[in-house]
Amino acid sequence: MSYRILARKYRPRSFADVIGQDHIVTALSRAIEKDRLGQAYLLVGPRGTGKTSTARILAKAVNCTQGPTGSPCLECEACHEIETGNDADVIEIDGASNNGVDDVRALRERVHYRPLRDRNKIYIIDEVQRLSGPAFDALLKTLEEPPDHALFLFATTDPHKIPDTIVSRCQVFEFRRLREVDIQAKLVDICAREGVEAPEDVLGAIARGCRGGLRDAESMLDQVLAVAEGAPTLDDLEMIAGLARPERWLDLFEAVAADDPAGVLGAIDRFLQRGGTERDFVQQGADALRDLLHIVLLGEDAIGVEPSPERRDRTLQLARSLGRDRLESMLGMLFALEGRMARAPLASRALLEWTLLRAARLGELVNTAATLQAMRTGEAPPGPALAARPQPQPPASAGTGGGSSAPAPPAAPPAAQAAAPVAQAPAAPPEPVPAPQAVPAPAPAPAPASQAAPASAPEAAATSLPALETLLEQVRVGRATLGALIDSLFKEGRVHEGGVELLLRMPDASSRAILEDPVSRKWLERLPDCPGPWTLRFEEPIQREDPVGDALREHFDAVEELP
Ligand SMILES: [Zn+2]
Repeated sequence: MSYRILARKYRPRSFADVIGQDHIVTALSRAIEKDRLGQAYLLVGPRGTGKTSTARILAKAVNCTQGPTGSPCLECEACHEIETGNDADVIEIDGASNNGVDDVRALRERVHYRPLRDRNKIYIIDEVQRLSGPAFDALLKTLEEPPDHALFLFATTDPHKIPDTIVSRCQVFEFRRLREVDIQAKLVDICAREGVEAPEDVLGAIARGCRGGLRDAESMLDQVLAVAEGAPTLDDLEMIAGLARPERWLDLFEAVAADDPAGVLGAIDRFLQRGGTERDFVQQGADALRDLLHIVLLGEDAIGVEPSPERRDRTLQLARSLGRDRLESMLGMLFALEGRMARAPLASRALLEWTLLRAARLGELVNTAATLQAMRTGEAPPGPALAARPQPQPPASAGTGGGSSAPAPPAAPPAAQAAAPVAQAPAAPPEPVPAPQAVPAPAPAPAPASQAAPASAPEAAATSLPALETLLEQVRVGRATLGALIDSLFKEGRVHEGGVELLLRMPDASSRAILEDPVSRKWLERLPDCPGPWTLRFEEPIQREDPVGDALREHFDAVEELP
């Protein structure tokens, strides 16, 4: 009895079986049908996304006795032999192990012999980026003048390591990471065909954990089916693949939201005890944060974020209580953490704990920023800063003891105590994130009138429209950064029936990116009473010396203003 692993058993056999790469499948099938196939293709993409399978299918499509055809018969000798890797005219080479110049020379000599039986002689070189420099040189000679019967199919996960001279002679196809829903659908299909039962949440967790690589998903399913007694569970998955149960992230981030150091450290400990590494933690944690951010930004029906019914309320509540600013900051902290871990692998755990304990204190920072902002604009300091947000971010009625929504006193003793032992452990890391203590406590001093605030912003013409200042105020409260940016650049603006129009001073590139961020634009448009989209125009600087930019703009016929 030989067991065939799922990835091999359910490998796509025809173009119709290839999932998530429609753009490639369509282009290749059309090229075959119109007899416009090139002689060299470079298939680029992450592992397990279907590059080699597609190369084999293309080989069948070209060499099938019924072909060339976009739908090879899968019955003829050629189709069979290509599938089993026995076709003498379809030569598969692993670039990792046959990467020397001699290997490529041998290929060059043989490529000129006519195919033995098939229509074309096809070379499939996997991991082509692993060829040596001289081997690439030799390959280039062949690619410059390939015999008519030759077709080269190169697959790579790392196209940057391939010389431009080679790439420029290939048609390049980029394989995408597969979407979670597509992978999950495929796993459901496999389970049905295997006659095994696997709960949806397990398949969902695999689909997420494989990070867009179907082959990885299939081998995770293989393993979890082998281990499980009966239907596999999330616990099985956690054990074999180190994929944490979704509740673990809720536990952790609730502790972060409530600035509960013991809860944070406990959640980290449980994750690591179950076999996941610190790096797994960062990857999976970032995914979980991204989900929460999507819920905040796109609403409860955020695409691709479907917490199971029993976790739904908790997840939505958590997203609300953390809010956009904190979630974005936390994501940034996790990304920075990855780099730090790479530099100091031995301190990984300490770094992880240190980062999350700091994340737990972000609530203070956000509240402080809101208070400062309110003082600048002459408003009363916000009480519950997060609760004062306008509609798109619903009020936080923190379910976890209210620790996150009430502005904590500047020196919260429990947090300080817990942070202390950890903070001194990683001596090395630089400090890009300002320490919470560094932020001056908001003193109830009278706020100086800000020169940036557009005090005399023109009123809306029609009485039914909200005043511009009212809208801007909502921006300052709901999106402090965006609000401050608009204030600092404001020239003039008006509200009209079709929306809001602002004339701003020309921002620098990073500020402009913030202003033009489509998510922010959507958010602006959805402010209460806002009549429509916001049009931002930027004032040209008075004199500008930018010959290169001018040349580029002229060359590409670029327009600087936004539509
Ligand atoms: Zn065939």
